[in-house]
Amino acid sequence: MPCMHHGTGESPETNINNAITIMFKRILLKLSGESLAGESKQGIDTERLNQYAAQVKAIAQKGVQIGIVIGGGNIFRGLSGAQQGFDRVKGDQMGMLATVINALALQSALEAIGQPVRVLTSIRMEPVGDFYSPAKAQRLLDKGNVVILAGGTGAPYFTTDTGSSLRALEIKADVMLKGTRVDGIYTADPEKDPTATKFTEITYDEVIRRGLKVMDQTATVMCKENGMPIYVFNMDKVGNLEKVINGEQIGTLVKP
Ligand code: UDP
Repeated sequence: MPCMHHGTGESPETNINNAITIMFKRILLKLSGESLAGESKQGIDTERLNQYAAQVKAIAQKGVQIGIVIGGGNIFRGLSGAQQGFDRVKGDQMGMLATVINALALQSALEAIGQPVRVLTSIRMEPVGDFYSPAKAQRLLDKGNVVILAGGTGAPYFTTDTGSSLRALEIKADVMLKGTRVDGIYTADPEKDPTATKFTEITYDEVIRRGLKVMDQTATVMCKENGMPIYVFNMDKVGNLEKVINGEQIGTLVKP
């Protein structure tokens, strides 16, 4: 994977034999709510939660600044709420609150292992978390905190994928890392089609043209239009986050 410095404007640090390359100074990590549920598919699996926290702490200790957006699908999805007869906007608000619940769980798990972490919310709800602003998030990151950006965009009809692309741009991240339960982007859903093959790299346009469901299209277009690289990888395998940071090509890079 090439070195990517989207916003910070600093050159990557490379050692003599090129074995260790610090490519990402600041990242936006998207964690899926569904993955957080683990085997039970609902609620919060504490083993998975603690694995996520440990993986995040490991790269924070290497000096990577980490903003995290977490989904809420393990608790509530606006669209399924609407199918059950809820008003869509209220359903989406319920979904956004679900992401706050996950954010607090992750904050708690990170604090338990001694990692400084703050939660900023897109909807005012002090003292649960401070109200989000890009400047506040960047200040906290510069001070060595992991910053969890909760509540999605704060607006209905969006997803946390779009929340991630928005926040990645706002905090001037070098890359948006999308942690999923598959190890990259495939020609088709590998959980359904055994003949599906994985891309090492793919363009934004190809993701959109093929209608690949790895990320919602609004988020993909937003990253495309603003030059934010996306890296999709399997976050559910312990150690993978560190591999990505170390430059190992274990997932799929989405680029122009
Ligand atoms: N949501 C929203 N606006 C946002 C982000 C999320 O309305 O900016 C709502 C939406 O209803 C969504 C739910 O929150 O279904 C949970 O988020 P998401 O589905 O993205 O979580 P994931 O599928 O990644 O677990």
